[in-house]
Amino acid sequence: MADRDIRDGLLNNVIDHPSANFGPRPDGCPIDILVLHYTGMQSGKDALDRLCDPDSSVSSHYLVEEDGRIFRLVDEDKRAWHAGRGNWQDCIDVNSHSIGIEIVNPGHEFGYRPFPDEQITSVLALCQDILTRHTIPAGRIIAHSDMAPDRKEDPGEFFPWNLLAENGIGLWPGVHQTSPVDLPEFDRLLDQIGYGNPSEDVTETEQDAYRVKRYIAFQRHWRPSDISGVIDDECMGIAQALARKL
Ligand SMILES: [Zn+2]
Repeated sequence: MADRDIRDGLLNNVIDHPSANFGPRPDGCPIDILVLHYTGMQSGKDALDRLCDPDSSVSSHYLVEEDGRIFRLVDEDKRAWHAGRGNWQDCIDVNSHSIGIEIVNPGHEFGYRPFPDEQITSVLALCQDILTRHTIPAGRIIAHSDMAPDRKEDPGEFFPWNLLAENGIGLWPGVHQTSPVDLPEFDRLLDQIGYGNPSEDVTETEQDAYRVKRYIAFQRHWRPSDISGVIDDECMGIAQALARKL
C-alpha cells in the first residue's frame, strides 16, 4: 500500500484547488502537529466548495476524495483554518502549528461509512510525504476529536489508525497488557498523552461530561471496537503503552 511508485504517482497528481481562507503562521512557529478530519458533508464536492468559500472562514491544507484524488487547498507554510478551539499537549493554537487534512466522508451526521481503500492509500502517501518535510512527533499526529473532544467526532472510529501506524504514521500501543481500571490514573495518562482538560469555569457536571468525551475520543482513536466511553482494563493497558512511547 505504501509502495513507492504508487506513492510517487499519487503525489505527482495532486490537484491544485486554492482556497483564500488562510493567514500567515506566526514567526518562528514550527509545523509540528498533523490533524486528520472527515468532511462530514453530503458530498466531497460540497466540502471542497465550502473549504474554498470566502464566507465560510474554514479551510484545510488538503482534501482527499473517496476515489483517492488529493486536492491542495492551502500551502503548507500558511495557516489554514481547520482546527478551531481546542488544544493538544502544550499547544493551545493548533492551527498555527499544524497541517490539516480533510478526508471525504459524510460523517456521523449524514451516514458515516468505512473509508475506501483508494482513499486510505492516498492518505498514507500524503502523510508520509508531509513527514519528509516536517518533524512531527508520532504523538502529535491526531484526530480532530483528540484536540476538541467536546465538539468533534472526526475522523471517527472507522478511521484505520492501525494501518497508518504500520506505515510509520502516528502513535500506536503495539503489544500491550491489560491493567486494572484506575480512573484517576487513566485521567493522568490522558493528560500525559495530550488531551486537554475541561474549563474550570464550567459546572462539575459539565466537567464530568467533558471527561467522558475524552474517554470516547481516546477509544475512537486507539480502541475503536468499543467507544462506549466506559474505561475498561484494555483501555488502561493501551493508555499505559502509549504513554511509555511518548
Ligand atoms: Zn474536523
